[in-house]
Amino acid sequence: MQRDGRWYVDLSSNDYLALSQHPRLVAAAESALRQYGTGSGASRLMSGDLRLHHELEAGTASFKRKEAALVFNSGYQANVGLIPALVGRHDAVFADRLGHASLLDGVRASGAELFRFRHNDPEHLEGLLGKHRGAFGRALLVTESVFSMDGDVAPLADLVELKNRFHCALLVDEAHATGVFGPQGRGKVEQEGLTPEVEVLMGTFSKALGGFGAYVAASRTVIGYLVNVARSFIYSTALPLPVIAADLAAVELLEDGLDRGAELIRKALRFRRALRSRGWPVLGSSQIVPVVVGQNSKALKLSRRLDDAGFYAVPVRPPTVPEGTARLRFSLCHAHAEEQLDRLVEVLGANG
Ligand SMILES: *Cc1c(COP(=O)(O)O)cnc(C)c1O
Repeated sequence: MQRDGRWYVDLSSNDYLALSQHPRLVAAAESALRQYGTGSGASRLMSGDLRLHHELEAGTASFKRKEAALVFNSGYQANVGLIPALVGRHDAVFADRLGHASLLDGVRASGAELFRFRHNDPEHLEGLLGKHRGAFGRALLVTESVFSMDGDVAPLADLVELKNRFHCALLVDEAHATGVFGPQGRGKVEQEGLTPEVEVLMGTFSKALGGFGAYVAASRTVIGYLVNVARSFIYSTALPLPVIAADLAAVELLEDGLDRGAELIRKALRFRRALRSRGWPVLGSSQIVPVVVGQNSKALKLSRRLDDAGFYAVPVRPPTVPEGTARLRFSLCHAHAEEQLDRLVEVLGANG
């Protein structure tokens, strides 16, 4: 990427598979642009509803191995519309403490009581469920499958066991897992064989899939209900067709076996090892490689050193992450050559 007239290796992008530049996505968007123009003109429930939107939804449902899917205009809008459709006052949401802001805002908008459990800690969740579940009508468990700031993976099987035992529904946000994990990039839930157990899956087209927008995949009943109840779906203009066409091309590419995810995870494993061997405290087990340095000043200093060497890695500081855990967050992508990553490790040097 180019910034202020200089070229950088971009380590802060979520375009994990480099699909935003893929000829098939570009061609699909171009052709839709010529056929339909730039805007969709109205919301889906008015006249903004075209065949291509439904093709994307059918393709996504089959990609995620669910009965049906619904496209939202962004991941933020999906979570903010979805959660208030599923729960309301008199209900409860039990959510991982490190969940994305959009999940939190969705819970706030729902009026449901929020209980946050310690990050990836099913025992803490079990305690909260034991104490509070009985006082509420419906209950929803909420987690990401791959966490955006820590790069680690939720204990999905434990969450499924708890949601069954305590009669809750489970919502998993696969924003960072879609396209990267599982067979054909179907996500972490599918990789662990848990798709039938998770009532609601959501994810975005804007990260590994190189496009824009988001999906919710669930039973036909849940999706039919969302169409009529989720306000962020109903009261927003439909995504433009070039975007929808690119999203569909990305799903088809993955279905056709474009397998860049596994390679990316191997690259991340190698990068993590190299950093650890130089004494850096590295988190996670995905393509997201956070190096926690603690103080803001140290994160800034390291980020500047990388900047001088042509690496663009935005330091992540509180309040995005907890106090005292400032970090460099490296998003590894298909476009990164191993030599570039080796050079980055060299530039960081030994921790101390
Ligand atoms: C990026 C992200 C979102 C929001 O998706 P957008 O399409 O960018 O609005 C939601 N949840 C998680 C976990 C994310 O990382």
